[in-house]
Amino acid sequence: MKGTVLIIGAGGVGHVTAHKCARNKNVFKKIHLASRTIGKPNAIKKDVKKRWGVNISTHVVDADKARDVAALIRKTQPEVVINVALPYQDLAIMDACLATKVHYIDTANYEPKDEAHFEYSWQWAYQKRYKDAGIMAVLGAGFDPGVTNAYIAYLAKKYFDKIKYVDILDANAGSHGKSFATNFNPEINIREVTQEVKHWNKGKWVKTPPIMDPKSVHFKFNYPIAGPWESYMLYHEEMESLVKHFPSVERMRFWMTFGENYLTHLRVMESIGISRIDPVMHDGKKIIPIQFLKSLLPDPASLATGYSGKAVIGCIVTGVPKGSKLEARSQKLITKYIYNVTDHAKCFKELGSQGISYTAGVPPVIAAMMVMKGIWKGAGVFNVEQLDPEPFLSTLAKNGLPFKVINYKPLPAKI
Ligand code: NDP
Repeated sequence: MKGTVLIIGAGGVGHVTAHKCARNKNVFKKIHLASRTIGKPNAIKKDVKKRWGVNISTHVVDADKARDVAALIRKTQPEVVINVALPYQDLAIMDACLATKVHYIDTANYEPKDEAHFEYSWQWAYQKRYKDAGIMAVLGAGFDPGVTNAYIAYLAKKYFDKIKYVDILDANAGSHGKSFATNFNPEINIREVTQEVKHWNKGKWVKTPPIMDPKSVHFKFNYPIAGPWESYMLYHEEMESLVKHFPSVERMRFWMTFGENYLTHLRVMESIGISRIDPVMHDGKKIIPIQFLKSLLPDPASLATGYSGKAVIGCIVTGVPKGSKLEARSQKLITKYIYNVTDHAKCFKELGSQGISYTAGVPPVIAAMMVMKGIWKGAGVFNVEQLDPEPFLSTLAKNGLPFKVINYKPLPAKI
């Protein structure tokens, strides 16, 4: 039904997505919110009603089961499904959207539960089926991936004939006052940051040690407004689609800030095995240590109260400027830095959320808006950089995530 959205997942990110849909009730006329259990959706429903006077409907669904999701889609009749549950559910929800011919949007690529490994191949494999069904899947429409992909597409469109070097920099320069906590789902977060690191260099992936290793690659970067923060090279999923869609890129790296205290906790967890993802026997029962660990750690949504400081996420891009008539050999390169600054306390004031949930939860709402208004159209499976970045970024700016572009200097090749 036109103007109907179904959001699956009611964690920190789902909270923001539901609130932002409610704030755009001229587009999202009917909002459905579903999760594994009813408690979280109902708490969000109450808060949305209190803050914006909008009624949303809540549901229980096991999104590991495509058939159950398809039944919920048939019942709620959405134009778009926004998946902000966990990466494990991506394929089941994509299958359900395919069976019911409804557009699909997510913020993180598929990852099997029993293997700490994510890549787009599983979801790109739906290309023909989505095309034949005449529906769109927009993959990775959070902040990173998501807005970072749109940032690069925007710079490519406005300033560059050819992009050569990309550095994506993600700083959470905020403080939640806990000795250890993750800003989004702990299980997904710990799996992501403890894996082997790779970056793109001259047509191939180059491996380097994980962030907890004494030989990890890191440097101090002076972030706008947030100041200098130690930034670690990390593998991040948007690089896989970006090097495919911008084949001129010679080098692409992703950097994220981590404090020494966070790294020490990770090292201890790794060494005692509590971040393991394989089952172990405990008291005669099989348990998965990382899932037990998740139950002990703070719920990321609960960090919002009292979170202070900023998150600064952006991309430094170097390349051949638009309209350069010079021979390749003598082409003078230019560098641009595009970024957003988000204030944790401001997010809390607006929606009762912390900045990381906010930066991840608003973009899929705007992506849904682009699809529902027909601004992004097509049939098949898309990454965000394949779609027009300008209306997306300008609408995002009006919805709390503005950006700035400045002239910059390239980061050194060797760090
Ligand atoms: P949370 O763990 O806080 O929330 C996940 C939600 O999904 C919960 O409501 C959970 O229910 C629900 N859920 C889990 N399993 C199922 C299931 N089988 N069926 C139905 N619902 C289920 O995670 P976050 O909100 O922190 O993160 C949500 C997503 O956002 C993740 O995929 C994460 O990777 C992504 N993300 C993307 C970012 C980006 O910039 N691109 C940044 C940050 C996050 P319950 O709690 O009852 O289990």
